[in-house]
Amino acid sequence: MFLRVLPLLRARLIRLRTDSPKTCQPGDLTLVLPSHSPLVELARTVGAGTAANFADQVDADARFPHEAVTQLRAHRLLSCYVPQSLGGHGASLNELAFMCEELGKHCSATAMVFAMHQIQVACLVHHCHDDRHLKAYLAQLTQNQHLIGSVTSEVGVGGDMRSSVCAVDVNGDEFTLNKNSTTSSYGAQADDLLVTARTSPTAPSSDQSLVLLAKGQFTMEQTGNWNPMGMRGTGSAPFKLTGKGLTSQIMSTPFATISARTMVPVSHLLWAATWVGNAVASMTRVKSFIKQQARSNPGSLPPTALRMAELAPSIQLLRTSYRYLLTEYESINADPTRYDELSTIGYAVRMNNLKLSGSQLIVDIANKALQICGVAGYKNDSKFAMGRILRDAHAAALMVGNDRILNSNANMLMILKGD
Ligand SMILES: Cc1cc2nc3c(=O)[nH]c(=O)nc-3n(C[C@H](O)[C@H](O)[C@H](O)COP(=O)(O)OP(=O)(O)OC[C@H]3O[C@@H](n4cnc5c(N)ncnc54)[C@H](O)[C@@H]3O)c2cc1C
Repeated sequence: MFLRVLPLLRARLIRLRTDSPKTCQPGDLTLVLPSHSPLVELARTVGAGTAANFADQVDADARFPHEAVTQLRAHRLLSCYVPQSLGGHGASLNELAFMCEELGKHCSATAMVFAMHQIQVACLVHHCHDDRHLKAYLAQLTQNQHLIGSVTSEVGVGGDMRSSVCAVDVNGDEFTLNKNSTTSSYGAQADDLLVTARTSPTAPSSDQSLVLLAKGQFTMEQTGNWNPMGMRGTGSAPFKLTGKGLTSQIMSTPFATISARTMVPVSHLLWAATWVGNAVASMTRVKSFIKQQARSNPGSLPPTALRMAELAPSIQLLRTSYRYLLTEYESINADPTRYDELSTIGYAVRMNNLKLSGSQLIVDIANKALQICGVAGYKNDSKFAMGRILRDAHAAALMVGNDRILNSNANMLMILKGD
């Protein structure tokens, strides 16, 4: 069945991408609703198939979700956000978010790896401008389906993405770079890297560049283990990075701009989308648990059904809050005259609020789902097991510590006019 459906989906994807204008036509629900996009259908198939089949094993062994990522590669989904002019699918951010949701319903690690990779692609797509090297890199990505890792965290600055200790050391048209990262997801599997570093050895810690290192230009020596409570498949160990490349690989847009305009908003949006997927997974287990209870006592509503009804608004809140901000982001991003809005204090506070509220809601939802399923949810070998979802959910508050974000918001709110 699976093998029969995939060629059809792929054919439909090619037809839609080549025949249809990028903009939606009024009344054309196939294009208006990203949930009906062929790209999202492919992610749904990978999620419900391979990602779901290996999710428990990935978690138990704390290993990279090779099988699901291989499938994403096979469908050329690692380059789906690359514009069509460079050979990609030209996906919208909306589609990426729905794809994260679909994967997140089955395997948080796969969804987060996909999200983190797409955040890097978005930084390159939004800020490559007319740089022919970066454009050539993106065109190659559509062929080689490389997985891009992110190295922002660093020994000495922890999770403060806007500070670096390491620096690019330029000599002629080449540079070298050494960085001790505290946490680099899929550092052992990443083909290429985007790394934050000071613009020179004498630059202040906040004067940063984003640097592309391609396969063969760097080594990653793992300096510690990754045996965490949750998100065990992301392989986010500490690594010692040594790299060198051409100065054309240092992005010309300052990292401060890339961070405000793309890395932070796209991260918070796509992370929230994966959390919605996790929340839906909790709800699915809750519903089937309650239906099982109902079958054992036909004609009466199990008392736990009320708790299920209580859970639904939280999932709706998580979903609508990120989708509202996503629509706003897409409309600003489509209009260069509005780019400055993304660098305002008000916008930064709103995007941080999404991370703060979303990371709390997902833990709350998974926790309530566990209470509803009771011991059936507490047992790891039960079909209602909530352990993996709950453990994964706790990473949300740590992926850039919430207190760090609250501290930034506290400072910004002191000078923000209005709410
Ligand atoms: C699953 C997962 C995947 C990740 N993947 C990557 C990756 O691919 N690449 C990457 O670079 N990083 C990655 N990270 C790291 C992440 O982005 C953060 O850098 C890291 O989680 C922060 O680590 P920390 O909590 O030890 O450190 P810190 O950020 O140093 O925080 C330690 C504690 O101090 C608090 N704190 C620190 N500063 C302040 C402040 N100014 N005000 C108030 N409280 C403060 C924090 O809230 C926290 O409680 C990943 C993390 C996780 C959980």
